Parts: sequence; C-alpha cells; structure tokens
Amino acid sequence: MAQLKSEVIGHKRLFDQWTQLLQRKQLTGSFLFVGPSGVGKKKSAWAFIQQVLCEKPIQFQACGECGPCRRVQLYQHESVLFIEPDGALIKVEQAQNILQFLQLRSLTSHRFVLIDEAQKMNASTANSLLKTLEEPSENTTLILLAPSLTSVLPTIRSRLRVFHFQPVPLEDMKQSHHFPDWVLEASLGRFDLLEVLNSPSEKQFRMSWADHFVKFLISPDVLTDDSWRDAIKNKEDLKQGLDLWLKMIRDSLFLQQGENKSLLTRDLSEQLQKIAALSSEELQFVGQSLVNLQKEMSFNKDPLLSLESLYISLKA
Ligand SMILES: [Zn+2]
Repeated sequence: MAQLKSEVIGHKRLFDQWTQLLQRKQLTGSFLFVGPSGVGKKKSAWAFIQQVLCEKPIQFQACGECGPCRRVQLYQHESVLFIEPDGALIKVEQAQNILQFLQLRSLTSHRFVLIDEAQKMNASTANSLLKTLEEPSENTTLILLAPSLTSVLPTIRSRLRVFHFQPVPLEDMKQSHHFPDWVLEASLGRFDLLEVLNSPSEKQFRMSWADHFVKFLISPDVLTDDSWRDAIKNKEDLKQGLDLWLKMIRDSLFLQQGENKSLLTRDLSEQLQKIAALSSEELQFVGQSLVNLQKEMSFNKDPLLSLESLYISLKA
C-alpha cells in the first residue's frame, strides 16, 4: 500500500494549495480540475482525497497505511462517490445518484463526489446539480474534471473553484520515464500521448505516413500512385496523419534554420531530411494547405480532391 501522491508526477503547486485548504478547514465547496488529458488530474484528485480522509496523517499528508488510505487506494471508500460518463454522457440518473449519496448521513468527517469528464454533462444533468454545486452541504467536496474551461457548461463553471493543471514539465517526465528525449518532447507533457507514441502500431503508423508524405511532396507521379489514396480513405487515420504531416513541416522548417533540438518527429529524420529540401515558401504553403484541409474535413469535403489540387499547385 502506498501514498497515492507519491505516484503523481508534477503538480506540486496544486498539492500545496490543497494542503493549505485542508489546514484551514476550507474544503467544503465545488472544485473544477482543468487541464489536458493524460496529465494526471484524476490521479491527483484521488491523492488529494486520500490526504483528506487519512486517519493518521503526517503533517497533513496521507500515511498510506491506515484503513481509509487503503480503501481510497483501491478506489473503494464509502465516503467517495466516483461518477464517469455512462456511454457518451453523464446522465440525469447519475445526477440523481449524486443527490441521493449526499442525502445520506456522512459516515466520515468529510466526503467527496468525483466527476470525471464533467464536460459530458448535458444541460438537464447540470441543471439538477446546480444547487448542490453552488452550495454543497457542510464537509462535502465535489470535484469535477474537464479538459478545458470552455468545455464545461457556463452555468456550472461559474459555480466552481478552478484549479489549472499544466502539462507535466519535461524534466519531471524524464525522471519518471526513460524514453528518448524526442518521445518525451513529442508527448507534450501528457502521459496518454507518451503511451501512444511508444506503441509499436503507432511507430508503424508514423513511419508509413511519413513515407506517404515524402512521396507526395517529392515524387513526380503521385497522381498515378495508389498507396497514399488508400491510406487517406480512413478518416480517423487521415486526421492523425495530417497532424503528423504538420509536425513534420514544422520540424523541416526548424531543420532549415539549423535548429534540431526541439523536433517532435525526430524518429522520422530520414524523411525530414528529404522534406527539408523543399524551399521554406513551399513548406509554408503546404502547411497552410494542410491546415485548411483539416478545417474542410469537418464539412465533409472530399480530402482527396483537396490533396490532388495541393499537389498540382506544388508542381505548377
Ligand atoms: Zn492514512
């Protein structure tokens, strides 16, 4: 058994703030933990909860050993209600569960409702919780997690005390994960991305899309080549592929300026060298066209036509 906080990487400033609230007995309220996915919001929330519910805290830190600490670590504490989307939404019935839970007599000195992906509450769910969020009963903390402020309904947002999570600093990531620097940099301080970047299928995806891109930019006869046409048929793949291509453009422009420290696609250096042979005007033109294409995709415009016309204007 262990103290959950010791497993959280980064976010020390936030823990300092929460410890102060605990010291001053100012925990009652509704909190919003905001930040990109994969930076540790949920883990931090559980660590904070453990800190509060611990029976034998040491200087306001969880001991990691007592009964409550163990139950929190197993995510099975009677005074914590954890809510996550049921399918695509947090439903009204789940809001009813929250209200029922809060009507019960509290078994411990403090209790928590933790709501993951709070951006998935629809208006009726949110409405049924407004009063509770505005004024939770004594010794109760509601913690909502969301990727951004704007993703949360304004009516809820205005009732919450906001804590911002930053991406995990590169140095902190280096200490806990021994990956090549470029992988850590490309993960943008997010552990979910780090995992994806390291999976064999992702590596293969990057490699093949990088090859498509080189072919597309350099080869004289792309219009008669079918391999990249097949690749862009899957919309999800295309989305990710365009994202990768834009990163490669960015890195090629960096390379042209002799800057190679902060490359996001260092694993594709062979392809980058080839792309960097284009002029910087051409690269910027391609980059802008790809950004436009990303926007068009949401209007269901055929990406094949856009790519073909990009190719033709490049060769013109
Ligand atoms: Zn404890």
